[in-house]
Amino acid sequence: MACIRMQEVAHSYLPKIQTFEEYALKRIHMTWEDGGAYALLGPSGCGKTTMLNIISGLLVPSQGRVLYDESDVTSLPPEKRNIAQVFQFPVLYDTMTVAENLAFPLRNRGVPADQIRRRVKEVADMLDLSTVLNKKAAGLTADAKQKISLGRGLVRSDVAAILFDEPLTVIDPHLKWQLRRKLKEIHERAGTTMIYVTHDQVEAMTFADNIVVMYEGEVVQVGTPEELYEKPKHKFVGYFIGSPGMNFLECKVEGGLAYVNGVAIPLDHTLAGSAGGAKGKLELGIRPMHLEVHANAVDAGIAVAVKSVEDQGNCKIVTMSLEGQIVRARVPEEQPAPGEKAWLRFPPQWTRLFADERMIV
Ligand code: ATP
Repeated sequence: MACIRMQEVAHSYLPKIQTFEEYALKRIHMTWEDGGAYALLGPSGCGKTTMLNIISGLLVPSQGRVLYDESDVTSLPPEKRNIAQVFQFPVLYDTMTVAENLAFPLRNRGVPADQIRRRVKEVADMLDLSTVLNKKAAGLTADAKQKISLGRGLVRSDVAAILFDEPLTVIDPHLKWQLRRKLKEIHERAGTTMIYVTHDQVEAMTFADNIVVMYEGEVVQVGTPEELYEKPKHKFVGYFIGSPGMNFLECKVEGGLAYVNGVAIPLDHTLAGSAGGAKGKLELGIRPMHLEVHANAVDAGIAVAVKSVEDQGNCKIVTMSLEGQIVRARVPEEQPAPGEKAWLRFPPQWTRLFADERMIV
């Protein structure tokens, strides 16, 4: 196991870089703690695979250094880094049996035969492959083949880290859920540093203790699911995490209040104080579940026009217009739906402010 440090790492696929925007990865400075279970989450094209390939050694970054503990591995290839990798599609030998495939990474390193047998059995039990151990990989389903790939990644217990690049893409949805839980259990037992790339927030949250959110080549936040939900540091985290995402309303701040198209919204005192010096476009942010929706006028309630009410079975999503800006609220299923008008309250403890997309703290 190892602690992985990325020091001022940046990467561009272009031979000549003109502007900062052309980097696929923009100045990453972060530490992956020894034994951590991380999800690397972000939309397509944000740089997740580039980041993972730099960690594994498949790619040498244009700038910066990668350290495994105290050793500089920036230009070392994957086979010199003592890591295991699991890719989106099965990587295995079709002509070998399942047991031979699982044993392969250990045989390659000269592990004694009795230890190999024990470890192959353990991994096969973990992944429910015990009944097919003597079958050739060629005849198995896509799901089983990907499980073998996972097994090949998990079989060595001495690796610095295990890197997963969207490993459950080809897996049947029902089995996906089981395997995610299984990987988490394996991490809890073995404590190996694991980095799991995904663009699916549910997958990230089930697997990881810490989620690294990427957006346009940058790491915009590293945090627990709760931190990302309650205190998104970047507007992108606000709308990417949660369903529906956070509401954002352009505003001005004056005298401790936020004004959305002239309508006053109270703010937490400390936050209102910090907003004074903020530069750039100001936006108020609030999660749909934190908005209070009332069907009748209430003290300090803001009148809004109700556009639609969508019943989702376990809750209702109410879409409203506040002086022309759309806001969504998630209300409990048992709460009666409002009519054409509703009154909103923004609890100050849940109301955030963003300046040029970054949360004001
Ligand atoms: P996805 O989820 O779709 O796999 P990603 O988040 O993993 O996306 P990357 O594959 O790292 O993103 O790509 C980051 C950026 O770098 C994208 O703009 C992509 O087009 C570009 N890119 C990736 N690989 C190459 C390459 N080999 N040559 C040129 N540009 C590349």
